[in-house]
Amino acid sequence: MNRPIEKIWLPEVLLDEMTVLATCAHPNETGGVLIGYDAGNGVVVTAIIGPGSKAIHGLRAFIPDYTYQDSEIERIYRESGRRHTYLGDWHSHPDGRATLSSRDKRTLRGIASHRPARVPAPIMGILADGDCWRLAVWRGFPRDMRARRFFSRYDRMALIQTRGDWMTLDVAGVSE
Ligand SMILES: [Zn+2]
Repeated sequence: MNRPIEKIWLPEVLLDEMTVLATCAHPNETGGVLIGYDAGNGVVVTAIIGPGSKAIHGLRAFIPDYTYQDSEIERIYRESGRRHTYLGDWHSHPDGRATLSSRDKRTLRGIASHRPARVPAPIMGILADGDCWRLAVWRGFPRDMRARRFFSRYDRMALIQTRGDWMTLDVAGVSE
């Protein structure tokens, strides 16, 4: 069964922010949150949030500063007129691959079952290989009996980098 590959639009400036954060934390992991909106035919990222000052960075582990992130998510949500919300997370794999680890998959399933977040199909960006960072974005569709999805599924998204910020996005079919 072939499913259409979902698109994700990401302004270059936001990717730059992520790679700067990842390079500063190298060789340790870092990460944060992806904010934006679902355009129906894909997802538009409008902001990223960094790790926060109380985050813990390890060679193979990263624990964000949740207090900082929650207040930033709330601030952006308010300032965007309640349109730009939490989409999922991103983090670096400094010497690793751009694929989801089993822990990453568990995290995605956890986000989906965490009701206050209201993200049934969260996304996760992996910035891999510290020598020349490459971003891969995945979307998790956890097992859901009511949707007759008997196994969790993790789809790689088609990443479309855009110049300028999301407000200048001019992509056919993208609307809020
Ligand atoms: Zn990971």
